[in-house]
Amino acid sequence: MLDLIIVGAGVAGLSASVYAQRAALEARTLERDGMGGGQLAEAVQVENYPGMTQISGFDLAQAMRRHAEALGSVFETAEVLRLIQRQSHWEVQCADGTRYKARAVIAAMGTQRRRLEVPGEEQYTGHGVSYCATCDGAFFRGKTVAVVGGGDTAVDDALYLSDLAETVYLVHRRETLRANRRRQELLRTKKNVVFLWNTVVLAIHGKEQVTAFTTDTQGVKRTIPTDGVFIAVGSVPHTDCLPPETARDAAGYLLTGEDGKTNLPGLFAAGDIRSKPLRQAVTAAADGASCVVSAERYLQGESKALI
Ligand SMILES: Cc1cc2nc3c(=O)[nH]c(=O)nc-3n(C[C@H](O)[C@H](O)[C@H](O)COP(=O)(O)OP(=O)(O)OC[C@H]3O[C@@H](n4cnc5c(N)ncnc54)[C@H](O)[C@@H]3O)c2cc1C
Repeated sequence: MLDLIIVGAGVAGLSASVYAQRAALEARTLERDGMGGGQLAEAVQVENYPGMTQISGFDLAQAMRRHAEALGSVFETAEVLRLIQRQSHWEVQCADGTRYKARAVIAAMGTQRRRLEVPGEEQYTGHGVSYCATCDGAFFRGKTVAVVGGGDTAVDDALYLSDLAETVYLVHRRETLRANRRRQELLRTKKNVVFLWNTVVLAIHGKEQVTAFTTDTQGVKRTIPTDGVFIAVGSVPHTDCLPPETARDAAGYLLTGEDGKTNLPGLFAAGDIRSKPLRQAVTAAADGASCVVSAERYLQGESKALI
């Protein structure tokens, strides 16, 4: 029986892995995507992680992984399908049939991109519709693309694509962006970025590939030619493998205290999967650390059963 299973090797899971080693816990970190790194690995440039003036998200995530491995953290490539609360432990069931037993679990599964839910989105996913500018941007060199959204991800995507594409439409349903101000200002300096304010996407059209999208700007409809549509309209937490009784907020994020305790004994949550005001690498790293300290106390029998 393990002391601790950490599910997810994004920033939260990697930070938890480091702290678990430092606490000499018998721990495993399970990650479905090989090397992991999570969303941070998609960030083109990170300029707000303390100690790193400027670093690619991929390099930062790899550095965190190397740090954990250097301390002796054990990683397994495994997709967790179910976390089941038994009387004295948690059972972790993986897609390949492997089962683990652990006295405590840290859920650090992060989030996935929200879909726009418009006609054409599903049909053209992988054929001009993308949720990852870093992954697919190179296919649109010299072409026209649209980015849908107004948060950090949308602005980052538009910035990245503005260096590749001929024209980038930024389509946002409000008239101000929610993204980091410095990144917004940088985006406004880009001559090939066209802002479509107060605008929603109604449909995405194409033949074999995307050819256009239809918008509604306060009642005025337009169909605009494009080669690609990048969707960056927020995220939904990866909580499917958790027991249904795990407490969540209205948007489905896990309710915990700052100590990471969920309402279920021995289950802790770290990073973007939590209900919290700021989802960033630095807060995910802090959560991973807090959860391990809470798990340690729980394992020592000091925790109360419920928050
Ligand atoms: C494009 C982009 C740019 C960003 N830029 C910045 C920035 O400049 N600065 C900053 O501070 N933050 C930035 N962020 C936000 C930051 O990346 C996230 O807040 C942080 O990475 C969240 O980490 P996490 O570990 O909570 O979740 P995630 O990064 O989502 O990691 C979760 C991990 O869990 C794994 N997983 C999920 N489900 C399972 C399962 N069932 N079984 C096994 N494994 C599973 C996933 O594969 C993933 O590796 C950016 C995010 C994006 C998308």
